[in-house]
Amino acid sequence: MKTQMKEILSIIWKYSRLWGCMKLLNSVLTAIIVPVNTVLLQRIVNDILILLQENHFHFILNTHLVIFIAGVFSEVLLTGLDRYVEIRFDMQITDRLEKEIVRKYRKLDYSCYEDPQTYDSISRISQNPGEKIRMIFWKLCEMVRIIILLIGYLLIFQQASPLLVGIFLLFLPPILYENYKAGCLWYDLYSRQTADERKIAYYERLLTGKTSLAELKIYQATDYIEKLWKKQSSKLRKEKEETLIRVEKTLLRKSTFAALWYLCSGGFLLYGVITGRISVSMFLVLFQTILNIVDTVNGLLETFGNFSREIQEMSYLHSFFALKNIPERKGCIDRPVRRIRFEHVCFSYPNAGTETLHDISFELDLSKSTAIVGENGSGKTTIIKLLCGLYQPTSGRILFDEYDIRNLNNGEIGKAIKVVFQDFFQYELTIRENIGFGNLARISHDLELQEVLDAVHLEELKKLGLDTSLGKLEHEGIDLSRGQWQRLAVGRIFLNDTGYAVLDEPTASVDPVSEYNMYQLFYLLLRSRGSLMISHRLASAKMADHILVLKNGTIAEQGNHTELMKNQELYHELFCRQAEWYQ
Ligand code: ADP
Repeated sequence: MKTQMKEILSIIWKYSRLWGCMKLLNSVLTAIIVPVNTVLLQRIVNDILILLQENHFHFILNTHLVIFIAGVFSEVLLTGLDRYVEIRFDMQITDRLEKEIVRKYRKLDYSCYEDPQTYDSISRISQNPGEKIRMIFWKLCEMVRIIILLIGYLLIFQQASPLLVGIFLLFLPPILYENYKAGCLWYDLYSRQTADERKIAYYERLLTGKTSLAELKIYQATDYIEKLWKKQSSKLRKEKEETLIRVEKTLLRKSTFAALWYLCSGGFLLYGVITGRISVSMFLVLFQTILNIVDTVNGLLETFGNFSREIQEMSYLHSFFALKNIPERKGCIDRPVRRIRFEHVCFSYPNAGTETLHDISFELDLSKSTAIVGENGSGKTTIIKLLCGLYQPTSGRILFDEYDIRNLNNGEIGKAIKVVFQDFFQYELTIRENIGFGNLARISHDLELQEVLDAVHLEELKKLGLDTSLGKLEHEGIDLSRGQWQRLAVGRIFLNDTGYAVLDEPTASVDPVSEYNMYQLFYLLLRSRGSLMISHRLASAKMADHILVLKNGTIAEQGNHTELMKNQELYHELFCRQAEWYQ
C-alpha cells in the first residue's frame, strides 16, 4: 500500500502539482480556521457576558468579532475555492494521465496481452484512473484536515483542563480502532469479491451484448446464464450482508465509546461550571467542540471506509506502467525485401507449457504467391504472428533478406508486409476509413477506394457512399454481415500496392462460391507483389506458386500443388478428403 501511495503522489506531482498543492493548502487552512473560530466564539461570548454584567447594552465591534467574521468568510471562500481546485485538478490530471496511458498502449509489447493478470491491468486502466487518483488524494487531504482539526481541538481542551485532554486521549484510540476495523472489514470483503465481481460483469455483458444475446437466445441459454448470474450475485449479496452486520457491530462499539466519552467530558464540564472553574462561555464552546469531534470521527469512517480498497485498486496503474515495452529497435531496410527466411525457428507462447512451432525452416519468395495449409491448431496463424514481429522466436531466427527481425521495428516490418488477420478488426467508422487505414495517404482518393470496393465485391457499399458510417456508434450507422466486414478488411490490403500481402483465412466468413471467386481474384490482383495466404480450403491453395504444409508445428511438406499431389503424402490426403466433401 505504501508503494501504491508513493506512486499516486508521484503521479500527482508529475501531472498536476499546482492544483495538488492548492488542495493541500486549502485543507490545512480550512482545518486551522475551525478551532481558531471556536476559540474566537468563546471569547466573543465571554465579551458579551461581561458587557451584560456591566449593563453595557450597546455592543462594540471588537477585534475578536472582526477576526471571527473574517474567519467565517474565509471558510466560505475556501469551500468555493475547493470546488474550483477540484475541477481544475480533475481536468489536468485526466488529460495528462490519459495521454501518458495512450502513449504507453502504443509502446506495449504484444506478449503482455497473454498473461491474464497483466491483461486485467490493461483493461482496468481504461476505467478513468484520473478520477480515482483525485478521489484518493482528496481523501488524503481530508485525513490531513482531520488530524489538524483534532490537534486544534486538543489545544482547546488543554486550555480548559488537562483532565479533559486525558479523557479525550483515553477514548480516542478505541473509537479510532473500531473505525479502522470497520474499514478493514469492507476492504477484506472487496479483496475476496473482486474475482466474483468480474464474473458477474462478464455474465452481464453476455446478457446485454448484441451478438452474445442473439446466440444465447437461439441456444435458449439465456436462462442458464441468468441462473449463473443470480447464483453469483446472491453469493456476493450474502457476503455483503454478513460483512454489513459485522461492521454494524463494530460501529455500535465505536458509538458506545463515543457516547461514554461524551458523557464523561460533559459531566466533567458541568462539574467545572458548578464549581466555578470553567466559565459558561468556555462550557458552551467545549461542549460544541465535543459534538464536532464526534462528527469528525464519524466522517473518518465515511472517508476511509474504502480508502485502502481504492489505493489497492490503483496498483493496476503501477503494474500497467511497469509493463514491458516493445524493445527499441533501430534496424532499417533500405531497399524492398525479396526473401524472408525462417531458420530453425522454435516458438512457445508466453506462459504456455508446450512448444507451438518446432524447428521450422523455410523460405518465402516475396515476388511469388505462397499458401500455408494444415489442420486447425497446426501453427499457421502463429507463423504469421512471428512474421509480423508480434512475438519473437524462442530459438532460431527470421531474416528479412539479411536483416534479423529482432533488429527491425514495427514500422520497418509494416513497410515490408501488409497483413489481414483472421480476427481482423471492425472499425465502427466510415467505409472510407475502414479501407483507408490500409494506406492513409490515399484515404481521400475516392476513385481508388471505389476500385477496392469493386475488387473485394462490395459493390453494395459503393452505392451507399464512402462516407457512410458503419456499426452502431452513429445513429445512421449501418451494420454489415461478418463476410462483408471481412471483405472490407481485406480491402485495406488492396489500397496498398506495395508490400507483401499476408492474408490469414481471408474468406473464413464468406460462402464457398464467393470464396473460390475471391481467391482467384486475390491471386490475380496480388500477382505483381507476392502474397502469403493461409487457408483451410485446399482448392484455393492449389492456385499458389508454392505451398507449405504444416502438421503439429512442423513443416510436413512443401512444393507446388502438382509436386505435392505426386508425393501422395499429407497434402494429397487432405486434398482428397476435402474433395470428397464437394462431390
Ligand atoms: P492454426 O492457425 O493452424 O489453426 P494457431 O497458430 O492459431 O493454429 O495455433 C497453434 C497452437 O498454438 C494451437 O494449439 C493453439 O492452441 C496454440 N495457441 C494459439 N494462440 C495461443 C496463445 N495466445 N497462447 C497459447 N497458445 C496459443
